[in-house]
Amino acid sequence: MKVLLVFAHPEPCSLNGALRDVAVRELEAQGHEVRVSDLYAQGWKSEVDRADFPSLAPDARLIPVAASKAAFEAKTLTEDVKAEIEKLLWADVLILQFPLWWFAMPAILKGWVDRVFAYGFAYGVGEHSDKRWGDRYGEGTLMGKRAMLIVTAGGWEEHYAVRGVNGPIDDLLFPINHGVLYYPGYEVLPPFVAYRVDRLDEAGFEATAERLRERMRTIATTPPIPYRRQNGGDYLIPSMQLRPGLGDPDAAGFALHMNGKVTAG
Ligand code: FAD
Repeated sequence: MKVLLVFAHPEPCSLNGALRDVAVRELEAQGHEVRVSDLYAQGWKSEVDRADFPSLAPDARLIPVAASKAAFEAKTLTEDVKAEIEKLLWADVLILQFPLWWFAMPAILKGWVDRVFAYGFAYGVGEHSDKRWGDRYGEGTLMGKRAMLIVTAGGWEEHYAVRGVNGPIDDLLFPINHGVLYYPGYEVLPPFVAYRVDRLDEAGFEATAERLRERMRTIATTPPIPYRRQNGGDYLIPSMQLRPGLGDPDAAGFALHMNGKVTAG
């Protein structure tokens, strides 16, 4: 398979840098073709602004959604964004790798999503009517491809457990897994998360690396998180509410949107 790894750490000699090399080596050993977008090394511009839409008239009001739609349709998005879109279309698998910073992805990676996931490409796709709310959440441009996160965290695994003070890791990552990856159609694999990494010793590193190698070996076969498809009949249109009677009656929030259970690996 073709794999795109988007890497968001400023230091090549970091733990994340070492784990990226472990992942790439194992994927290549399995016969996969790998490309890496190293966002800091590329000097990735993270903010959306007028410079993203060179064909917008200088006196026109910048409406980001409308400008994104027009630029995608007219093929006038900037070259850096077009290159990332081309890589996403090339790849069968997308991996986003980052250290957890303030319970979220680093700003540079969020900026990659904001700029690359253009209207008409990652959202605003498909029929939008009283019968159908577009192709999203399981359908869309990137349908048929797989995606997963590789995340490192300073906090302990227990702190991210169901009753942990940080909140469950699956909930914290839901906006990325469901909102960013499942939305444009990816099948999303359970994330790889390494906890308590700030004082990792050699033995801890080797155990983490081996766990990661195993995830890379099974990247083509690991069952995805069983999110419910928006257009699969589970949701009412146009309210987009889960149909009464569906889901565990005790479940609330994010868990309702999964048809089964899965946890971080
Ligand atoms: P590094 O600092 O590069 O390395 C960590 C340790 O791994 C090193 O000290 C070393 O012992 C070992 N190591 C590194 N490379 C190797 C190697 N090649 N071989 C063997 N051992 C190695 N954590 C949370 O849990 N939640 C948060 O919300 C959160 N917010 C943060 C916000 C900010 C702004 C920052 C800076 C940190 C935050 N953290 C948080 C902690 C953060 O998640 C970790 O610092 C990060 O995941 C560590 O990854 P790294 O690649 O930067 O590690």
